[in-house]
Amino acid sequence: MNLAHTQPGTVPAGVLDGQVAIVTGSTSGIGLGIARSFATAGASVVLNGFGEADAINATIEGLQGETGAKAVYSAADMTRPDEIAGMVDLALETFGRLDILVNNAGIQHVSPIDQFPVEKWDAILAINLSSAFHTIRLALPAMRRQGRGRIINIASAHALVASPFKAAYVAAKHGIVGLTKVVALETAEENITCNAICPGYVWTPLVEAQIEGQAKSHGIPREQVIRDVLLAQQPNKRFATVEEIGAFATFLASNAAASITGAALPVDGGWTAH
Ligand code: NAD
Repeated sequence: MNLAHTQPGTVPAGVLDGQVAIVTGSTSGIGLGIARSFATAGASVVLNGFGEADAINATIEGLQGETGAKAVYSAADMTRPDEIAGMVDLALETFGRLDILVNNAGIQHVSPIDQFPVEKWDAILAINLSSAFHTIRLALPAMRRQGRGRIINIASAHALVASPFKAAYVAAKHGIVGLTKVVALETAEENITCNAICPGYVWTPLVEAQIEGQAKSHGIPREQVIRDVLLAQQPNKRFATVEEIGAFATFLASNAAASITGAALPVDGGWTAH
């Protein structure tokens, strides 16, 4: 299996021209892939997430250089409602509008429920679920003023089905699908849509590190880790790419997706068809 990005998602140039997007957790992985797709499609973006200052500056410069789009960075911690408000203010002060909100920041912890650290439960619920409540309540007034908006929540196949030892993650991801439906119903007549993307395994640096780690700890080749451990539940036996998720998010943000709202949309190679 070739893990390289062999099929970059196709993003129609100009489809998001003039629009402004916030993508939480976009200093790496899926969030960065979405931010890059939006910028390629013509949007200005607010990047957010943790990382070394030099690496973040390089990411912003690279994204602006590659796409010609404008990008700014918010260091807002998604566990802090006051900092989340600052991020939304930054978007409005910098660009004067806010068209697209992607709630992507997320963390994971794996542990049996009777040993699950309480602070990990609280952090996962705060970052993976409550942050989206805060961003949405703060972004909606601007979207309503503009008469258009797109909210995209990055959930997971674990928003639709469960796995053992992931109590907080599965609870938060199921929760964000519920939040998605409520927001969709409250905004249905306002040209605002709210949807959840539910990826299976996506090839990111985090996943790559798991492949290496598991290959070492099990003493098995990386191809076997990919097929029999990580992709055990994913029938197509292939990771999705961040470019595919970015292209799908760009479609959901476009006018062509105006009638899609309140949906939890799997991008999981058939996982939840089981
Ligand atoms: P990642 O670790 O590469 O990226 C997570 C991002 O969130 C980073 O930018 C990080 O700095 C940021 N972040 C973490 N805590 C934060 C906080 N408190 N405040 C602000 N930013 C914070 O992970 P990823 O694989 O790209 O995952 C992104 C999203 O996609 C998550 O919600 C994850 O649950 C979901 N997802 C990932 C996969 C996968 O296979 N990679 C599958 C399904 C769903």
